[in-house]
Amino acid sequence: MARILVTGGAGYIGAHGCKALRAAGHEPIVFDNFRTGWRDAVKFGEMIEGDLLDLDALKAAFAQAKPEAVMHFAALSNVGESMADPELYWRNNVGGSLNLLTAMRDAGVGSIVFSSTAATYGEPDEDPITETARQAPINPYGASKLAVEKMLDDFEKAHGIRSIAFRYFNVAGADPERQVGEHHVPETHLVPNVLDSVAGARDALTINGTDYPTPDGTCIRDYVHVMDLVDAHVLGTEWLLAGKESLRLNLGTGSGFSVREVVDAASEVVGETVPMNYGPRRPGDPARLVCDGTRAREVLGWSPERSVMAQMIGDAWAWRQTGRYSR
Ligand code: UDP
Repeated sequence: MARILVTGGAGYIGAHGCKALRAAGHEPIVFDNFRTGWRDAVKFGEMIEGDLLDLDALKAAFAQAKPEAVMHFAALSNVGESMADPELYWRNNVGGSLNLLTAMRDAGVGSIVFSSTAATYGEPDEDPITETARQAPINPYGASKLAVEKMLDDFEKAHGIRSIAFRYFNVAGADPERQVGEHHVPETHLVPNVLDSVAGARDALTINGTDYPTPDGTCIRDYVHVMDLVDAHVLGTEWLLAGKESLRLNLGTGSGFSVREVVDAASEVVGETVPMNYGPRRPGDPARLVCDGTRAREVLGWSPERSVMAQMIGDAWAWRQTGRYSR
């Protein structure tokens, strides 16, 4: 049993991370500013309200929580928004992480699992992408996450803080028990947008670009079930707490789905056609991001068994129908 400070623990992935930590016998302590997270999502342990940009609040949180390790989910994560407002991304994602590492150093906490992203690869020079592919982000979101990976390297050299940076591909789905799920306002991600369109909660889905160099012209992504993704985080935390070395690992399945294929899968699962239209490309989107995920399986023994498109959409749909948060 370990005490884990979970930044962003009231957000989509962070809340599932807390559930997985609790299920594995650990004690999550959420640190969240509730700007995009939900109070209703904090169900598996204590909560400390605070902002990563407030170093004093962060130091007080470490004194109160006395964590042995940190899971660092808190960040802004929309590619389009980052293109329009890079300052927001550099300040929150990089500045917030710098404060977090500073507080860890001062509190003597030596293990951190960090949410990085496939967006650090930019237009990849490998397909599928391994962890040693060139990292050359094409949007400020990816650049901010790559900067934090480099910060982690430097804090390890200087202060011995070991880290796992998980480079997420596309995360989808929800807790099948419907205690937590995905709820962003505004929503920008593909799977919830598709489901909102089917449910009539928004206008028709707009497919962002149909002229990419892919078989059907729409972008291809590698989707992972959020429950599988957070399982990797628990394995990673336990790896670091056992004193093992820092890792950089892709989290994806190795299967690519185009936007059109996701829409078709959703129609099948829900049993209705998805109202949709075609729009221009969204700035900052690479055509195809598919991962070679063998390393996480080999090193951590990770097995992403729920990352099947129909299951991800089915769990997201069930959560959408019954479980969503209110503020
Ligand atoms: N997408 C889309 N319509 C939407 C939302 C997303 O066509 O309403 C596309 C988006 O441009 C990208 C893919 O779906 O090609 C996945 O986008 P998402 O925002 O879910 O994740 P990202 O790949 O940006 O992390």
